[in-house]
Amino acid sequence: MKKYFSFLFFAIAMWSLQGFASGRQHPMDFSTWFQDSTLRVDYIFSGNARQQVIALDELRSSEGWYGRRHNLDTLVLRGNGTITMRDAESRSVIYRTSFSTLFQEWLTTEEAVRLTKSFENVFQLPMPRRDALVEVTLYDTRSREAATFSHLVKVDDILIRPVSASHPSPHRSLHRGGDSKECIDVVVVAEGYTAEEMETFYADAQKACDEILKYEPFASNRRHLNFTAVAPESRESGVSIPGKKEWKETALSSSFDTFYSARYLTTLRLKLLNDVLAGLPYEHIVILANTDNYGGGGIYNSYTLTAAHNSMFLPVTVHEFGHSFGGLADEYYYDDQYEEFYFPGIEPWEQNITTLVRFDDKWASMLPEGTPVPTPTDGIAPSDMEHIGVYEGGGYQSKGVYRAFRDCRMKTNEVEAFCKVCEHALQTVIDYQVKPLE
Ligand SMILES: [Zn+2]
Repeated sequence: MKKYFSFLFFAIAMWSLQGFASGRQHPMDFSTWFQDSTLRVDYIFSGNARQQVIALDELRSSEGWYGRRHNLDTLVLRGNGTITMRDAESRSVIYRTSFSTLFQEWLTTEEAVRLTKSFENVFQLPMPRRDALVEVTLYDTRSREAATFSHLVKVDDILIRPVSASHPSPHRSLHRGGDSKECIDVVVVAEGYTAEEMETFYADAQKACDEILKYEPFASNRRHLNFTAVAPESRESGVSIPGKKEWKETALSSSFDTFYSARYLTTLRLKLLNDVLAGLPYEHIVILANTDNYGGGGIYNSYTLTAAHNSMFLPVTVHEFGHSFGGLADEYYYDDQYEEFYFPGIEPWEQNITTLVRFDDKWASMLPEGTPVPTPTDGIAPSDMEHIGVYEGGGYQSKGVYRAFRDCRMKTNEVEAFCKVCEHALQTVIDYQVKPLE
């Protein structure tokens, strides 16, 4: 009898756990689990090529939650790291999100073999109604768990610092699709613009917004998107270019020559960036640097940073936004690439490239019947975006990585569209954020 009872109990427990975890039988209601406010978690990721450590830096709270209210316990993309929030009592997953970081990019550099460094990382989570466990996991380039860290968030913790929304940075709307709680909020932030240069910034920000909204799938999703220009003043005009021995005091402390790569423009000051945005609704960040030097960067669910006065400003902005908004991979490659980013036998999580390990999870269903895999390029122009296939070259590697079209905004700055596979991947991210998925 006892045996029977415990089996029955176990079966019921498993059934209810599965119902909770999948979120499909019982879609989770946002207001059951969360307050209408934001929990900002600041972490320090540190380490070197051999080992990495995650530590909690600070917790903050602010009024209003502007992130997604659907698909709470599911991920749209795995990213290079994930955050999972569980109800502390029942251990049910109540929220998940994913991201990539500069820290993990740095780990692949030669410097990380001989030096230990630390990087700031900031994430926004919905504020739980009850105590919650937050778990952070980082993956390495071979998709293995590299570091995990979990901590308890007590909702009545007196040391969670409230962020004041009373004096937000100066800002102006660039495009309004609708209510911030239903739309995806993108902020376009000034970097290296002095007080006298702010009208130039607002004009640059409008150009960036209009350009992104020209591209599909953003064009047909205008009603789901808000764009706001945010204008923190910099003391000096321009941004730091260490390679030219030019250092500037700017609002977000950004610089070229990140990881000694001349055109890699980033900021390592994620806390500063998020402080500048305090009190404003934001889910995605585009930073415009007041410089004509060529460069930029885009990190999934972190930010895009581009040079606003370079001739390639607009195409680069859209390309980097493909990384930061949609987690898209670079489709370009080098013939003499000796360092591997994508390894044979490991399928990348990015939707627009494949190593053919799990191609069925990628664009296999979009291929016309009889398409040879890999697809030869004979008779197909390098700028062709009509013929879907499985073309070798992508993700910086000429061998072993494949893309769907010969050209795409994620490959060159010349074409004025994302390929159909990138477009579909971006649409999936938009759907995930604005409506319950099937
Ligand atoms: Zn593409």
